[in-house]
Amino acid sequence: MKEQESENSGAQASEKPAGPPQDLKDMNDLVSLAKRRGFAFQSSEVYGGINACWDYGPLGAELKRNVKDVWWRTMTDRMDIEGIDAAILMHPKVWEASGHVAGFSDPLVDCKNCKARFRADKIDLTQFKPGQCPSCEKFGTLTEPRNFNLMFKTHMGPLEDSASIVYLRPETAQGIYVNFLNVQQSARQKVPFGIAQIGKAFRNEITPGNFIFRTREFEQMEMQYFVKPGTDEDWFEKWKAARIQWHLDLGIRKDKLRFHAHGPGELAHYAKAAFDIEYLFPFGWQELEGIHNRSDFDLGQHQKFSGKKLEYFDETVKERYVPYIVETSVGCDRFLLVSLVDAYRSDGDRVWLQLHPKLSPYKVAIYPLMKKPELMEFSDKLFNDVRKKYRATTDEAGSIGKRYRRQDEIGTPFGVTVDYDTVSNGTVTIRHRDSMAQERIPADKLVSYIEDKFENWGK
Ligand code: ATP
Repeated sequence: MKEQESENSGAQASEKPAGPPQDLKDMNDLVSLAKRRGFAFQSSEVYGGINACWDYGPLGAELKRNVKDVWWRTMTDRMDIEGIDAAILMHPKVWEASGHVAGFSDPLVDCKNCKARFRADKIDLTQFKPGQCPSCEKFGTLTEPRNFNLMFKTHMGPLEDSASIVYLRPETAQGIYVNFLNVQQSARQKVPFGIAQIGKAFRNEITPGNFIFRTREFEQMEMQYFVKPGTDEDWFEKWKAARIQWHLDLGIRKDKLRFHAHGPGELAHYAKAAFDIEYLFPFGWQELEGIHNRSDFDLGQHQKFSGKKLEYFDETVKERYVPYIVETSVGCDRFLLVSLVDAYRSDGDRVWLQLHPKLSPYKVAIYPLMKKPELMEFSDKLFNDVRKKYRATTDEAGSIGKRYRRQDEIGTPFGVTVDYDTVSNGTVTIRHRDSMAQERIPADKLVSYIEDKFENWGK
């Protein structure tokens, strides 16, 4: 009864943080939140799960759509970038030309004692001696590294012979390279221009893990920018700057992002220069996105293997050349994980996701104070008005405080309470997720209020 009395007083007694906000420290806290609230479930869980595959639940699917929409619009709203959606299965020669059949492998080592498997190049040599097992209590010795090709193989057609082998693509980029001229000519683009694509990629990773950080099936958001040789270094710098800014604009904290330049030992066979954008996860600095100057390697290889010219003809100066490519490649799931890790806050009592509103699964939640017809009627109408513009939800169960907490945990930026004052004077209480501040505003100004806050988010 006490709770009801305080609720009936309209705007709730102000909330106080239990302590200073803390970042995510233990990935298990995020994994359990993700499962409990429907962001991500382990794939085939009823059968005990399948390693390193995850299913996105209702909120995860919404968040992922938002990630993809923001990326897609950033890229394709530009007049110099076209989007495509290429098939996952490609001609097997593609993967010979790209170098994946011969070289897309990681060095695999096994512990002779506990039989655990590792990627030799990912063992932290500041902590373990070369050849020593990182997980085994008896400090077992490791086998010599063997190269393990990461491509998933399958067969096309009814015969399972070597002539029918096809691969599940390990990256989306090749679908762009082989379509370079199709896109350039059909869209009447002139170099420099880019092609963007979002799609699934598959890698038979040796050591997947850390939730959705490294999985065997994932989605990539890749953009390949075709430039005149000689201008590639400039474009590389421009794309580096544009891509880190993209993460910052989505609210990812600056002190958790850094560039890592690939040294001569790390540089892939195709790359003239490569930088990773890294993020500081609870398990250390790790790659989030790669930006590569791929030179004319890719188009050159496809010319060689297909026997077809993949040159650009510059009409203005009557010049023919194979363009250089500057690539930006970010994992959709990897970015989604960063958005959750970066947004996670706890003050010892409350847990909230400080997601950028462009990413939040819901932008606003509407709460009728009680399930009374006059409140429900107002609240239903308000909900239907708001959802025309913003993805919204309602919650009618439990105290208002509990309802706030439920939405905080999934990152809904605003909560709106409809109470008896609303019915008499048309105002509602709007409560902000991050500051917990509450304001009383006219209900018919709600949409424009939210619009204004979203436009000025973070400013
Ligand atoms: P690593 O060396 O860590 O295996 P990589 O350098 O081979 O990764 P890229 O081929 O550059 O990775 O892939 C581009 C992006 O795709 C990565 O920055 C990452 O965001 C994403 N990505 C790559 N592999 C995976 C994976 N197994 N699971 C999830 N995302 C991935």
